[in-house]
Amino acid sequence: MEKIQNFINGAYCPPTNGQYIDNVEPATGQVYCLIPNSDDRDVELAVQAADAAFPAWSAMSIEERGAVMMRVSKGIEARMDEFVAAESRDNGKPVSLAAHVDIPRAVSNFHFFATAIEHFASESHNMVGEGINYTLRKPIGIVGCISPWNLPLYLFSWKIAPALAAGNCVVAKPSEITPYTAYLLGQVCKDAGMPDGVLNILHGLGGSVGDAMVKHPKIKAISFTGGTKTGEYIARTAAPMFKKLSLELGGKNPNIIFADCDFDDMLSTTLRSSFANQGQICLCGSRIFVERPIYEKFKAAFVEKVSKTVVSFPQDPAARMGALVSKPHMEKVLSYIELAKEEGGTVLTGGERVILPAPYHEGYYVRPTVIEGLAYDCRTNQEEIFGPVVTIMPFDTEDEVLMMANSTEYGLAATLWTSDLKRAHRMADQIESGIVWVNAWLVRDLRTPFGGVKSSGVGREGGWEALRFFTEPKNVFIKY
Ligand code: NAD
Repeated sequence: MEKIQNFINGAYCPPTNGQYIDNVEPATGQVYCLIPNSDDRDVELAVQAADAAFPAWSAMSIEERGAVMMRVSKGIEARMDEFVAAESRDNGKPVSLAAHVDIPRAVSNFHFFATAIEHFASESHNMVGEGINYTLRKPIGIVGCISPWNLPLYLFSWKIAPALAAGNCVVAKPSEITPYTAYLLGQVCKDAGMPDGVLNILHGLGGSVGDAMVKHPKIKAISFTGGTKTGEYIARTAAPMFKKLSLELGGKNPNIIFADCDFDDMLSTTLRSSFANQGQICLCGSRIFVERPIYEKFKAAFVEKVSKTVVSFPQDPAARMGALVSKPHMEKVLSYIELAKEEGGTVLTGGERVILPAPYHEGYYVRPTVIEGLAYDCRTNQEEIFGPVVTIMPFDTEDEVLMMANSTEYGLAATLWTSDLKRAHRMADQIESGIVWVNAWLVRDLRTPFGGVKSSGVGREGGWEALRFFTEPKNVFIKY
């Protein structure tokens, strides 16, 4: 069976302890490759390589650094089909989604930050008659990037690209559940002429290799995307070491639909915002609030569309939804559907596992599920499920829906549907979230700040926010 390898100091290498763990294909439920079960010794090797590479990489002109990163972007693009197939196989998502969203976005992430760094400027503050302050933006040194399984290469590169562009050397860890495209990235970087040690990619479990990264004294900043509980643990570990932290965590996003919206546009977008990537996008709107005059109309039209959604193996061109990422995750999602019933919810469509014909009969497929009749403050409506499950609830007033929308511990993204401009501004201002889409969903401009409030995280990614995070400001005053 294939064994993937760590990428340290510009070369693929086995884990120091020689141990491997299984990597399962969600579409079939079968192990299809092995991944290194790395530990603190591999982190040490990666840190040493990064340390040695830092002086030259950080001293390189931004044009030269940008050129290397641009070649990485082109290198992924040149191997598009291979990356798409690998991402879809590793994660269970339809090939069409990996081809249209995941891998093109990884290409864009490297491209975007390769050019963004050329335009990044620092501040200057004049004190009339006294002198001038100017602020230098220095790379931090060695930084750690830890990413989740839902958008594997997309989110991995979203951290690595700004870190590298800013002149840092990186030790990075993809999710152990979806490591394959990160493994392929090592070779692309090598082919692009990236100096050895600038990017080191380690595989393995969060509790061992991830934890060792967070605890390593020479890794000065951690950019993490994943669950809120893991984020809490990382914050507790890193805080006494005074590390810079960027935490992108869970969500329970509201999708608020007013009666005056463009109904057809709203309906087709809500289908996507509910179930794209099997509902496993941190930005999916899992709580759908519908203004009462159109509640019944929405319910009928939505349930009809959802019930026709094709759930199939990822390579099936007809598939609109593929497999959930793992057996434990599928079981978690199914347990929340049971909880919703115990809490008095009615399953309007879905609610069960789908068993496909062999060889996919052991894959992790769940029918897209719509539930109504639940209180806004029950567990199903407060806790993150992160799967193809949405609830629908009627509302009567703006104040009421704002109260319900803001009632969770999370605050990542919100979607609003209305044609009343004043209301859109009013609501957008009062919703507790880092991102608000009005009459749209998942429209992304890479220059905008990305991240959440409350338990959805600390800090922002994207554009200047990311370049600021990955640099240390140093103010210099010169007397006139
Ligand atoms: P997770 O927290 O289990 O794992 C994320 C990463 O952290 C993995 O690489 C994992 O190995 C590592 N990890 C786990 N324990 C660790 C530890 N103690 N120290 C260091 N690293 C550790 O999350 P997941 O299940 O992979 O991803 C799903 C979660 O990610 C959901 O909650 C989802 O909302 C969230 N997410 C958030 C965003 C966002 O931008 N806010 C985007 C995507 C996903």
